[in-house]
Amino acid sequence: MNEKKKAGESAEAGLVKAATFEEISHLRERNVLALKKAKESGRKVVGTYCLYSPTELIVAAGAIPVSLCGTSQTPIPAAEKVLPRALCPLIKSSYGFAITDTCPYFHFADLLLAETTCDGKKKMYELLGELKPLHLMQLPQVQDEAALDYWLIELKRLIRRLEAEFVVEITPQRLTEAIALLNGERRSLKALQDVCRRKPAPISGMDLLTVLHNRGFSVDKREAVELLDRLTAELLALSDRGISPFSANAPRVLLTGVPVGLGSDKVVRIVEECGGSVVCFESCGGYKKVDPVEESGDPLRSIAEKYLRIPCSCMSPNAGRMELVERLVQEFSVDAVIDLTWQGCHTYNIESFTLKKHLQGGVRMPFMQIETDYSESDSEQLKVRIEAFLEMVGGKQAKK
Ligand code: SF4
Ligand code: SF4
Repeated sequence: MNEKKKAGESAEAGLVKAATFEEISHLRERNVLALKKAKESGRKVVGTYCLYSPTELIVAAGAIPVSLCGTSQTPIPAAEKVLPRALCPLIKSSYGFAITDTCPYFHFADLLLAETTCDGKKKMYELLGELKPLHLMQLPQVQDEAALDYWLIELKRLIRRLEAEFVVEITPQRLTEAIALLNGERRSLKALQDVCRRKPAPISGMDLLTVLHNRGFSVDKREAVELLDRLTAELLALSDRGISPFSANAPRVLLTGVPVGLGSDKVVRIVEECGGSVVCFESCGGYKKVDPVEESGDPLRSIAEKYLRIPCSCMSPNAGRMELVERLVQEFSVDAVIDLTWQGCHTYNIESFTLKKHLQGGVRMPFMQIETDYSESDSEQLKVRIEAFLEMVGGKQAKK
């Protein structure tokens, strides 16, 4: 079974990648130069590792936020000289880039921003703090009023650190402007991902992931928004003309679980090689990210509320993730859910049982959990499992 059109089958499908996609594909490399120039002109850079990082505060301090989450296998052997091998690859990759000084974005960072999420990450941050100035936010692991009050105190502590490090004043007006800017980016990211509600999706999951990954390195948020909006318009126009990399009956897959990016895209690639169409990423770089900050009321409290409600598995309980996945299954007309867990990630691994039970309570949505790492060692095995899963999903669809 292969529902993905073969390369060259539709000359027009290639147009999706022609202009704006190509431009975004090279954003990461281009932005290294932009970041270097910005540093030379006196701008400060703050490296972040998690969706809980309140980026508005960094922007309001006049600094540039860059994502430093490691998605590559390359620096992992270096990290394993210090960290346990059984640790999550995302943590090892992030640390490996830092100790080998092979990530230009880490290299340019003046300050690292970290949060106490999972055990592995927070202990790794203790080591990272020996390499660069690091500010650690104590993240509550429940989402109630008392936790919000505590989180607000943590946000104020971060404001004081940013003001002292960068000799700036973070005023309510600056926060309001930062909220508007980043909400604009979230709207554009949502609109781009929403093109995949169309059947068939006008962009492959791999290409969508490329865009979501690369825009995380944008130095100029307004430029990123303009690129995203242009790409969305192109994709909608292609879809209107019936152009897609997929056949209409390709199984539509929602990917949930741990963060994925270029370099840790093995499962996305295999799903699409096996004929599936990854139409929605629920994870941190995808739909979890597009929830906006409330634009009325006290800006700092609105920021605190937005970040505390992120439905990551380090929260206990984490009902928000169940609700989000269920909603996205409907909105993206999903045929199957794949829950990806990195080896060593206990929170997502255990929560997979809860998610499966939740999703299969009503409609019995086809569900598969995959536990893997960044290496290619299990690729063939995964291919066999995914192929069988998609065959089963295809069979179910045919019986409808
Ligand atoms: S999965 Fe959780 S800990 Fe990891 S980046 Fe996302 S919010 Fe942060
Ligand atoms: S994937 Fe899991 S173990 Fe890895 S950093 Fe995120 S929450 Fe921690």
